[in-house]
Amino acid sequence: MIESKSSLVAGQSNPGLVFAADLGGTHLRAATVDANGKIHFRLKQNTPQAEKADEIVRALIQALRASEEQAAGGTGSISALSVVVPGTVNVEEGVIVKAPNVPCLDGFRLAAALEGELRRPAILENDANAAAVGEMWQGAGRGLSSIVCVTLGTGVGGGIILDGKLWRGVDGSAGEIGHMGVDPFGGVACTCGSRGCLEVYASATAIVRMTREARPRYPDSALHTSEQLTSEQIYNAGLEGDELALEVFRRMGVYLGIGLANLINIINPRMIVIGGGVVNGWSLFEKHMLQQVAERAFPLPARSVKILKAECGDDAGLLGAAWLGFALQGRSL
Ligand SMILES: [Zn+2]
Repeated sequence: MIESKSSLVAGQSNPGLVFAADLGGTHLRAATVDANGKIHFRLKQNTPQAEKADEIVRALIQALRASEEQAAGGTGSISALSVVVPGTVNVEEGVIVKAPNVPCLDGFRLAAALEGELRRPAILENDANAAAVGEMWQGAGRGLSSIVCVTLGTGVGGGIILDGKLWRGVDGSAGEIGHMGVDPFGGVACTCGSRGCLEVYASATAIVRMTREARPRYPDSALHTSEQLTSEQIYNAGLEGDELALEVFRRMGVYLGIGLANLINIINPRMIVIGGGVVNGWSLFEKHMLQQVAERAFPLPARSVKILKAECGDDAGLLGAAWLGFALQGRSL
């Protein structure tokens, strides 16, 4: 279903623009994107801390109107809307099943609400799934049809594309790579209710927690002086050779490598794309990650897979959303 950029636009006289919005718990980011993946206009604002879903709908409509005024300059009209949310989405029905960071949307039929107001087709998607599509369309996975995308941010997200099709699963909940168990014995408690998930070892939150936990064993570490630790700070300390930071990224790399080896053995993908802020620490965890992959993945799929950093950065979700918006209009299917 997912085809290359050239086939996406082939034969289309004027596919126009898709209004793509990335509705995070903190920020609402939006952009108009054309069929070549070019972003024409973007905006960013705080997500309304709304008690009612209507306020979110208003914010999205206002953002679209602002984009439309810009598009009036000649870049084409907005033909569809695509919204990505951090949570479980029923794509076919356009319903947000559960979005822990935007709880007023739980159970809300957002696609129908937007379509009713704007008279244009609308689609919803989970943010990590959209990021995987974005990386395949415009990022590290360009031209490939079977890739897995792992996003290492505040949490750990995942998206799986098999034979050109986003694998959403029976309930739209597939791809929760962050909640793959990697430590069954005494594993750290996860926000999902389980223990020992990849997320509690490989997210930015986990990097900070593991640093605090290990700090007493490293009295000489420069990371003792700061109370407000961030994963960025820990990464910078690691670059300067701080033993505590190096140990934390070693552990993180080991757990991530175990998770990737599982994905490689089960899915046999052409590429695993790793995105999110924690990727800044790549040089500190890469060796440990790859060592686990070498030890645990079967040789044949391990030889076939490339493990690369994501290329689209914060725009992966918006670009994936845009692609899905074009697909919704039958422009690539
Ligand atoms: Zn979990």
